[in-house]
Amino acid sequence: MIEDLYIQKFGRSPEVIAQAPGRLEFIGNHTDYNGGPVLGVAVDRRVSVALAARSDRQACFRSASMEGEVCVDIDSFAPLSGNESWANYPLGVLKELISAGMPIPHGFDMLVDSDLPAGAGLSSSAAFELASGYGYCGLYEFELDRADMARVGRRAENNFVGMPCGILDQGVSAFGDVNSLVKIDCEKELFSRLTLPDDVHFWVFNTAKKHSLVDSLYGTRHQECMEAHRRMQAPLPQAQNLAQISTAQLSEHQDLLGDVLYRRALHISGECERVLAVESALGKGDMATVGELLFESHESSRVNFENSIPELDILVDALKESQHVWGARLTGGGFGGAVMAVTNGQFGQADAEKIVAAYQEKFGQAATFFHTTTGPGASQGQLSAT
Ligand code: ADP
Ligand code: MG
Repeated sequence: MIEDLYIQKFGRSPEVIAQAPGRLEFIGNHTDYNGGPVLGVAVDRRVSVALAARSDRQACFRSASMEGEVCVDIDSFAPLSGNESWANYPLGVLKELISAGMPIPHGFDMLVDSDLPAGAGLSSSAAFELASGYGYCGLYEFELDRADMARVGRRAENNFVGMPCGILDQGVSAFGDVNSLVKIDCEKELFSRLTLPDDVHFWVFNTAKKHSLVDSLYGTRHQECMEAHRRMQAPLPQAQNLAQISTAQLSEHQDLLGDVLYRRALHISGECERVLAVESALGKGDMATVGELLFESHESSRVNFENSIPELDILVDALKESQHVWGARLTGGGFGGAVMAVTNGQFGQADAEKIVAAYQEKFGQAATFFHTTTGPGASQGQLSAT
């Protein structure tokens, strides 16, 4: 338990604990910067923090998974580098909360612990930010609503860590809940929840592959989407972004785009339409249709957006054969990374091992996997009574 660990590390009890979940991108691939909607799911694995006040003006951080302590002066700190850079996530949040008016009359000691694998596409960074945010609010008796807390986490990651992510990770960690998907309207930055039926399970298969050009490929896709929107402004001047253009309109004006831009745009418009179709199918409890839409999303990534890789395709193809799988697709930016399978409760360890065996046979390397389900969003925790 984090409280016991805190006593071991700092020699006293924490005053506040807080936690925040990791997330999976359910569907709505690359829609965020095109002004479209995205659905995410908070998983039942999380980052937890514990804090207690210090009498001086130092902020000290320890991690259960690392040796050593990182301390800074709360009145003047800047991004850290090298093996101290992990503390930039909670420090960036601290800086944003101070800017938002949170008073900090004294320093603190923070411990972070986690059962979320870092760097595995589950956004441990956003979970760390949100847990820190709720931890600080508890310690300094400051209040912020969920949407603002998500924005604080995103700004910390954009401005202090230096990672230009969208609002998905922090929004889902903040608004996630058991048996829920989080819907984010990326243009208006509106958050809502959709209900998932009971007995929906997630299996994540990680290829550990990362395309060597992933950053530049991401940039190229971004530019292609902007160019496709620009060209569609002649016939559709009222469309403020690609997400406001339907697949039927794209098809009508295909000649303005040419093959490559047409396929890029088709992926974005298609994803926006699939998000709405998932919402409608969920309203009827129709997981079979939801699953088909997930497979369609992957197929569109493979053919239209070209952000899949053969390693991901093999996993999705193998999952398609399993009777307990509703649907599967690459999750996140693509060009490597992980596949998310959405299954019923009968899909088990042996089924997952069959999937990775097919992968191993083809690529001579193992893919790792784990099971997770939905979990609650970020919150302050209850200290156990002493
Ligand atoms: P992802 O968000 O996909 O997990 P990132 O690279 O964005 O991957 O964030 C991972 C980083 O977050 C780690 O390299 C580390 O700096 C920080 N981090 C996550 N969990 C912990 C932890 N338990 N202790 C210390 N740092 C952590
Ligand atoms: Mg991250």
